[in-house]
Amino acid sequence: MTFKDYIATLKTAMRVPLECAPRLIWKLAYNFAWRNLINMHRFEKRQAKGEPFFPAFVMVSITETCNLSCSGCWVTPGGKKALTPEQLDGIITESKKKGSYFFGILGGEPLLYKGLFEIIEKHSDCYFQLFTNGMLITDEVAMRLKKLGNITPLISIEGLKEESQQRRGTNDVYDKTLAGVRACKKAKLMIGAAASICKSNYNDLVTREHIDRLAKEGVHYLWYYIYRPVGPNPNTGNALSEDEIYELRKFIVEQRKNAPLLIIDTYWDDKGKALCPAATGMSHHISPAGAVEFCPPIQMAKEFINKDASNLSKIFEQSEFLSDFRKMTASSSRGCILLEDPSAMVDFLLQHKAIDSSTRNTVLQEYRMMFPVPGHHQPTKEIPEQNVFYKIMKKKYFFGFGAYG
Ligand code: SF4
Repeated sequence: MTFKDYIATLKTAMRVPLECAPRLIWKLAYNFAWRNLINMHRFEKRQAKGEPFFPAFVMVSITETCNLSCSGCWVTPGGKKALTPEQLDGIITESKKKGSYFFGILGGEPLLYKGLFEIIEKHSDCYFQLFTNGMLITDEVAMRLKKLGNITPLISIEGLKEESQQRRGTNDVYDKTLAGVRACKKAKLMIGAAASICKSNYNDLVTREHIDRLAKEGVHYLWYYIYRPVGPNPNTGNALSEDEIYELRKFIVEQRKNAPLLIIDTYWDDKGKALCPAATGMSHHISPAGAVEFCPPIQMAKEFINKDASNLSKIFEQSEFLSDFRKMTASSSRGCILLEDPSAMVDFLLQHKAIDSSTRNTVLQEYRMMFPVPGHHQPTKEIPEQNVFYKIMKKKYFFGFGAYG
């Protein structure tokens, strides 16, 4: 890292304090940063002492309803399942009792969920990340998010114009999504962009040009995912090769030296070693049907929350399915079981008599059709972080938590 790189990193870190509304900065600092510092410490202690299990974070898919149907998405197209407001409120309340105040809110398209803002407002001591395609973010919606203050929109941009049309199945998705980003910028929100990198969007999105373009649009952080060929329309041919994943990792580490926005991944620790967030117990997922799942794309479960989610802690403490799933995945690889060994995953799900928690009832068949594709666990080609800021953040917040010995 050169002196210029350190200055660039400092400028990037100052973007949020300089560009976002003061109250939002306070909510980010206290509800997200400070509370997560304590939460991660409590989670680490629970894991180390073998105390009753509860994940550090709960990802919640509140509805299946969506205004798009993207290839590679695990949500049932046309699905109508949704959590009740009582269940969503209960999940947040139960998690807070365990010190967990940060929630990923997914869909479908969560902005189609009636009553969402009222629940987020009620839990003003929490912080929410809204996984959205951004198409419904008007100036009015952006101002409503600003009024809430404890929420950051993470807007999925899966390609430039043509690719977005291809992957997401409608003409104007790219322009509408960008309009959503601009409405968020006008409202001085902290804005995230997410991309699930596959063969067809690699050359457009894994470039410095794309990073600079997003930063100019007002995006503060970019979350790179690796495409998972799942769901009723998996398009397996679009999955990345081993070399493409390696080049993606190299690109992320290189760009982190001086990128004008923060670059997020949930695949590698500070040394470049792979990990699976669910295998470490850091996060698990609740589906629109109330199923308590290992992670969002694995739609099979044994336990379901009750009408007010008051049984959530008990499920996490007592679920043999989830604890065996964590052990099985962590003992077989540091990577993604879904990509690397779907047939071992199917054997595990059958052995545990897991239930299809989707509304299309074809998930097991879909997994049986899957074959192994490369994942992010490449033990001979690990690339450690080079930017000291990311080194510290990963070392402190994103490591194995003892899952991998
Ligand atoms: S199994 Fe794969 S998709 Fe699920 S959390 Fe682990 S790495 Fe992610």
